[in-house]
Amino acid sequence: MSSNRTNPRKPHVVIVGCGFGGIEAAKALSRAPVEITVIDRTNHHLFQPLLYQVATAGLSAPAISGPIRHILRDEIARGNLTVLMGEVTAIDAAANCVVMDGGEHVCYDHLIVAAGATHSYFGRDDWARYAPGLKTLGDAFTIRRRVLTAFERAERESDPAAREPWLTFAVVGAGPTGVEMAGTLAEIAQTTLSAEFRRIDSRHARVVLIEGAPRVLGTFPEDLSQRARKQLEELGAEVLTSAKVTDINAFGIQYETVEGGQPVRHFLPARTVIWGAGVAASPLGRALAKATGCTLDRAGRVVVEPDLTVPGHAEIAVVGDLASAKSFLRADKPTPVPGVSPAAKQMGRKAALNIIRRLKGQPTQAFRYYDYGSLATIGKRAAVADVELPLIGRIKFSGLSAWLFWLFVHIYFLIGFRNRLVVFMDWAWAYFTSQRHARVFPDPHALEPHAMVVRVTPPPVGASIGAAAPGSAAVHAALGAADSATAAPGPAGGAAVAAS
Ligand SMILES: Cc1cc2nc3c(=O)[nH]c(=O)nc-3n(C[C@H](O)[C@H](O)[C@H](O)COP(=O)(O)OP(=O)(O)OC[C@H]3O[C@@H](n4cnc5c(N)ncnc54)[C@H](O)[C@@H]3O)c2cc1C
Repeated sequence: MSSNRTNPRKPHVVIVGCGFGGIEAAKALSRAPVEITVIDRTNHHLFQPLLYQVATAGLSAPAISGPIRHILRDEIARGNLTVLMGEVTAIDAAANCVVMDGGEHVCYDHLIVAAGATHSYFGRDDWARYAPGLKTLGDAFTIRRRVLTAFERAERESDPAAREPWLTFAVVGAGPTGVEMAGTLAEIAQTTLSAEFRRIDSRHARVVLIEGAPRVLGTFPEDLSQRARKQLEELGAEVLTSAKVTDINAFGIQYETVEGGQPVRHFLPARTVIWGAGVAASPLGRALAKATGCTLDRAGRVVVEPDLTVPGHAEIAVVGDLASAKSFLRADKPTPVPGVSPAAKQMGRKAALNIIRRLKGQPTQAFRYYDYGSLATIGKRAAVADVELPLIGRIKFSGLSAWLFWLFVHIYFLIGFRNRLVVFMDWAWAYFTSQRHARVFPDPHALEPHAMVVRVTPPPVGASIGAAAPGSAAVHAALGAADSATAAPGPAGGAAVAAS
């Protein structure tokens, strides 16, 4: 056991997670009379709102991320902040310690848990291998590789029927991430790649956005949803709403619509499926519930007190996407706090401030969320905005003006001058050339589950998908073999699996 403390006289604040919530908490505490330890399982802080740009090869990873040590270098130099790279796997609330990587204990006087969220496949975790979500840099690289590889495979495929699924890109979920992905993929097909292949015409690629709700961008006002849909369609994407995904496999995606009051099943052959539908809290929520008996909501988020602490544990605060928190802007009418970066940052600051107040013997304050509105980009010159502007108040707008506003806001909120400059230059270059400079990916021969069995006959559209459908028992067996081959690569295994 270790406490990892350099100054045992000062109260020790441990911050788990250095995303938006964690980094704000660390900065807000850096001049307080405390010793801080920041623990993150990665070495970098990630600006998730621009992650789709890395996935779609518009930006390189370092443009939207930065080493935590470097970002917090001033605080480290001040002598009261330590950064540890490690995964917190458990919390021992009775002993006031977190457990790192299943062994090392780091003990705290105050704990801020800011571990964020992960993907939810609504109980179908087996879909994850065919439909990667977008949360980490690793996810973005996987999607980039799959998208670019799909065009390469299409160029090699002489059979038009087999080529089509390689040129079909399905995006599940029409929240901001799904809309951004679909719009950008359409742009890549229509413009970026249009002159660079000889056997295929990338402009014939289909990008299909599938949403279970009746409209895209469900959290935006209805008129902006409609404008977003129109802009997506103008960019060349197809939008299916009220379409419920019922299965995903190596060959495509099965979904259900209701026609004339009857459910109708459809199968869309697509080699590239991207998941933007569900979000679940970090598993650390369950660890906290086990340690403290706190309540979790349906998404696994920790239900916190008005001051963001865990009930019965004033020394533990939960902030950001992991917290099921309420805003007390109007004390008589608390409202739920959304899972967005400004909320995480504001919660991080409030949790830090409340620790300082407790150290001074003052009562803690309830969290108040200031909502400055929502923005979503769809593609070049296409975006929607519903924002609160100083002196003007709440306004809604879309198209070029919303897109320019989106660009400005995202550059402004990026951490680090270099990142801002790099992103600005990359975007300016992309604007005038329609090119995406980060179209490279390592490990081109990675055995991807969706690429294992190349020649398939997809079931007819509208057919009921049963046990005999592609992607069922026989195919999964082949994929199992492929996974073994990945674990122990060798000429025989590779050849047997890559049956193209
Ligand atoms: C693709 C995408 C696009 C988005 N776009 C927008 C947008 O346009 N606007 C907007 O406002 N919001 C957007 N969001 C949401 C926003 O990014 C989140 O609300 C915000 O990141 C939440 O901050 P957080 O601090 O709670 O978690 P995060 O920023 O996710 O940080 C969590 C940190 O905890 C670390 N961690 C996790 N588990 C552990 C562990 N067990 N041990 C140690 N470290 C751990 C992670 O490595 C990470 O660094 C987007 C999110 C995604 C995924």
